[in-house]
Amino acid sequence: METIHLKTVDPVSQELLRFAAQRGIELPWERYEKLQPQDGFLRLGLSCPFGCMQGPCRIDPFGRGAGKGICGLGRDEMVAGTLLRLCLQGAMDAMGSAATLETVPEVQFSDTLGKMVSSVLAENGQADLNGSDILKGASMLGRSSSTCQELLVQSFRLSLLTLGFLEQENEQVSAGTKKCDVGYTIVDKYPVCIGFSGQPSVEFVQQLEVESRQGPGASVALVSLGEWISLKDRFMPIACTSGESELLMSSGAIHLLVAGPGTDPGLIDLCREMKIPVAVAADIAESSDVVQRARQMSSTVSQMSLFTDASQAGDVEVVMSNKDSARMFGEDSKVKIALIGGTDSPQMSLGQLPVELANGIQDQGFRVAGWGDTALWMIKNGLTSDEQKSEVLILEDRQGPLLAVKDLAEKDQLGRLQGICFTGLKNSGELAMALGLAYLGCPVSVAAPIPVQGSQLVKDTMAEMVQSNGGELNHYDHVPQAKEILEWFTTLSIKGAA
Ligand code: SF4
Repeated sequence: METIHLKTVDPVSQELLRFAAQRGIELPWERYEKLQPQDGFLRLGLSCPFGCMQGPCRIDPFGRGAGKGICGLGRDEMVAGTLLRLCLQGAMDAMGSAATLETVPEVQFSDTLGKMVSSVLAENGQADLNGSDILKGASMLGRSSSTCQELLVQSFRLSLLTLGFLEQENEQVSAGTKKCDVGYTIVDKYPVCIGFSGQPSVEFVQQLEVESRQGPGASVALVSLGEWISLKDRFMPIACTSGESELLMSSGAIHLLVAGPGTDPGLIDLCREMKIPVAVAADIAESSDVVQRARQMSSTVSQMSLFTDASQAGDVEVVMSNKDSARMFGEDSKVKIALIGGTDSPQMSLGQLPVELANGIQDQGFRVAGWGDTALWMIKNGLTSDEQKSEVLILEDRQGPLLAVKDLAEKDQLGRLQGICFTGLKNSGELAMALGLAYLGCPVSVAAPIPVQGSQLVKDTMAEMVQSNGGELNHYDHVPQAKEILEWFTTLSIKGAA
């Protein structure tokens, strides 16, 4: 436990880690350590991603073993194919509810994003984007016959498509701002807590809200375990970041888990181990006795009293739309904008990068906005409080930096954008968003490893493709320290000067 500060900066989470260790509960950090070293071929992009049954082939990064696959596929095409596979998955994730088994949906860009995308495509001599780009990407991953350049072009096209689908989904469900309460203290206010993970259906949540207010018995809180779950006029209160969800569950303070689509298996395993009931959020019929099961569970466990530290909590207005000009960045062209967001990862001490970066960047006089787990850390550490010299802005989780980019583009002030940093990536959708923004012409830095280190040609070509549109893509072959990313943000003062 002497390395506990390398796992999280949150003092309550550190207490919970000690508590879990005493009880022999395995958490993501232990699993992460047991998994080291992770597959180096996959990490470098040198494990063949094509849908071919003659493999799997892997190329030796050091040039001592296999230099080509059985079919003759070279390292550059293998790495570019890996990127395409991830971008294809990212675009399909972003399609979300718009997709059906019968049809691939057409993307409907807003005027602002549509103009930016059209300009990039025209300057690069590319055709308009449409849903058939998904099918083309899938077909290119059948068995390799495309060049490295063709694979990379399709990767970036799918990244742009991802931005369009994300925007489309958001326009359908939300506008203006929504309030959100954040922090462990939320669970301390109620004797019974139902935790939510993944993205449960709105109907399921609404049904539980009604049931939680009915009948005799203790008050019941519905709290999210690290997910931004959008309700009608607010977000479900978020008790912890996604990286802390198993920690909170291990404390015994959550009396039932509602597992929506996207729930990590580790959370369900932990419930099984601790005998905490689980309800599957896809099954509305399950909701009828959920509240009763949670009340029963709460009467059998003794609650820890760790969650009273109000300094690690806060509430905030979340910007849902770039049309909410009152909350956005104002007109002062001298104020530079830094966007920081992303998902927790056991590779880094939870909370360290978000808080160090936000504080360091604010010291340089930049206005900061955040999204995702990074935003939760900013809220927990008081950076969104009115008492701050410059209050951090919190952006809706799914669109995140895209909202800010559109706001600046509409004002013709994209030059104010100092940079966008993804502090961690949860899935290929977040990677595709980062690549799409860079290809649109934004300066983007990614702190999580991108599996392209196995090919210098792929890295150079990606950088050139992004730079030719006025953008930048900074990424690392190691887990970066906050000061490296701060240097990227602050020393490149010519960024955005155009
Ligand atoms: S496409 Fe080529 S490199 Fe990939 S698994 Fe098949 S034979 Fe091997």
